[in-house]
Amino acid sequence: SITDKSAKIFVAGHRGLVGSAIVRKLHQLGYTNLLLRTHADLDLTRQSDVESFFSTEKPLYVILAAAKVGGIHANNTYPADFISVNLQIQTNVIHSAYIHGVKKLLFLGSSCIYPKFAPQPIPESALLTGTLEPTNEWYAIAKIAGIKTCQAYRIQHNWDAISGMPTNLYGPNDNFHPENSHVLPALMRRFHEAKVGGGEEVVVWGSGSPLREFLHVDDLADACVFLLERYSGLEHVNIGSGVEVTIRELAELVKEVVGFEGRLGWDSSKPDGTPRKLMDSSKLASLGWTPKVSLRDGLRQTYEWYLENVCAAN
Ligand code: GDP
Repeated sequence: SITDKSAKIFVAGHRGLVGSAIVRKLHQLGYTNLLLRTHADLDLTRQSDVESFFSTEKPLYVILAAAKVGGIHANNTYPADFISVNLQIQTNVIHSAYIHGVKKLLFLGSSCIYPKFAPQPIPESALLTGTLEPTNEWYAIAKIAGIKTCQAYRIQHNWDAISGMPTNLYGPNDNFHPENSHVLPALMRRFHEAKVGGGEEVVVWGSGSPLREFLHVDDLADACVFLLERYSGLEHVNIGSGVEVTIRELAELVKEVVGFEGRLGWDSSKPDGTPRKLMDSSKLASLGWTPKVSLRDGLRQTYEWYLENVCAAN
């Protein structure tokens, strides 16, 4: 585990929701030697580029937060991209990290790796016990392969690769695209635009009854550093808040934080996806970690970020 704050740490995907939060957290904690590459500087799907990067830079730790991600619509529309890009990125990075002397690697996945009808809250042991939710199985299969790749390198090479599986995340640097984003940023944007444009109704997808758990990405980043510093096990670790809301409750809360005063409409032609997705994060709790950011505070902070960084920039 990391003892030296000047150890070279490669954060793959540092511009994304997760990677950027991890960079903020590492800086806050006094880590001084972060290795970062934009997509334009290093395309992680190109095996030979990834190999020469590792052989030149020789990082000691790797946090693999680079992935092609998207919400329910994007996953349904671009299945080939979701499976192949993610398999390529993780295979290249994990193998090169192992070959070039990385001491420890943290791979990040998502709660969609679990079966559609997994027991709730979902324990780590539910992995590969049933059929996946079809709307995101392409992404899920890639992420399951990532967990298994880490396990295989640990078993065959005694190499310290671990995996963290976050629940639904939100926060600064999220994707606020109207169709291709996840529910929370999509709703934040829609409520904001309706407020500014004087709209009377905001349409929310599905029935409003699915349950989702949300974790602020600053909490996730804290958990990632915690795992990197203290966990070395074969099994992946769930990272959740333990707090779940219905999509209807989420919509009401976002509406209130944004200050939209009109009404909600429901588009039942859009899919609900998994009925419920709550992680059992008791393993992480037993290691000594707890989340700190409430959903309401996290939404307020994210809306401020959106106003300053997305709206102001347009
Ligand atoms: P999921 O957690 O993998 O299903 O991904 P999403 O965040 O995309 O969707 C979560 C739930 O929110 C689903 O039931 C969606 O139908 C619902 N939802 C409601 N409005 C929206 C929206 O505007 N965008 C998205 N992505 N989902 C929405």
